[in-house]
Amino acid sequence: MTNETARTIREMLEPAIMKAGGWVNTHAHADRAFTLSPEILDLRRNCTLQQKWDALDRLKSESTEEDFYRRFSMFFELMISQGCTACATFVDIDPQTEDRAINAGLRAREHYADQLTVKFANQTLKGVIDPEARKWFDFGSKLVDIIGGLPKRDERDHGRAAEAFDILLGTARELDKMVHVHVDQFNLSSEYETEMLAHKTLEHGLKDRVVAIHGISIGAHSRMYRQRLYGLLKDAGVMMVCCPTAWIDTARAETIGPMHNSMTPVDELVPAGVTVALGTDNVCDAMVPWSAGDMWHELQLLATGCRFDDFEQLVNIATINGRKVLGIA
Ligand SMILES: [Zn+2]
Repeated sequence: MTNETARTIREMLEPAIMKAGGWVNTHAHADRAFTLSPEILDLRRNCTLQQKWDALDRLKSESTEEDFYRRFSMFFELMISQGCTACATFVDIDPQTEDRAINAGLRAREHYADQLTVKFANQTLKGVIDPEARKWFDFGSKLVDIIGGLPKRDERDHGRAAEAFDILLGTARELDKMVHVHVDQFNLSSEYETEMLAHKTLEHGLKDRVVAIHGISIGAHSRMYRQRLYGLLKDAGVMMVCCPTAWIDTARAETIGPMHNSMTPVDELVPAGVTVALGTDNVCDAMVPWSAGDMWHELQLLATGCRFDDFEQLVNIATINGRKVLGIA
């Protein structure tokens, strides 16, 4: 990894990343990428969460298949331009979007197939328990490569997170697909979703097939809890995706707890033997307006935010671990 002319860490690491097969972006929402506008930014600043959800539903309902195709294409080109060779993106397949985004995504994937390996997962923003949402989840599950989940939605609407995990993992088992689940996003010690995902993974016999996205709240728990959790993740073969920009803007709170940045605890997960990979999450949309889908920026924020300087492991996180997380041999 040493290079005589390299002066910056970027100049040292990026050649090694290219040598290891190029960047792998393991998590995104490309169907909503590049949808920023002054109105959207104003909405983000001045509206309630419900108003934001309504605006997102409106955006999805009004987007045509061609709108989605353009967003996927711009996103894939942004990845290719950085030397990214594989990526995964969630796709909304729900009552508002119906099948327009996935149809556009499948077409765009075909167009860039010679330059970029793309895996799709179904986003379940409306949960999997509401009957109309479930109908679209079952429909989407057959079209995507990876079963995607957001159990928080079913917990919020119905208080039934455990059931949501069972539906997600049961479907993955039935269709023989991997699972990527958004868990522990709010940096709160009251969240235990990563732990529940690991238990459910063992229960459903899905060792090495399940990936947790975010796990921000792990850092809000005690050291003893964290160490127990890492052992459990390793036993269940649950891998972790870190999207550093996505939750670094968690709002200030007066809660007392262990000092940590609002980020996946990569510095502890890697030594514990858990596979960690990198993702951009949302790019230039209402959810994460500040993320421009820059892979180097994400890796730099991961390294600094977690105070993690193991160069060899950072290269693995950016490359081969990503391939593992996407199920690419
Ligand atoms: Zn996400």
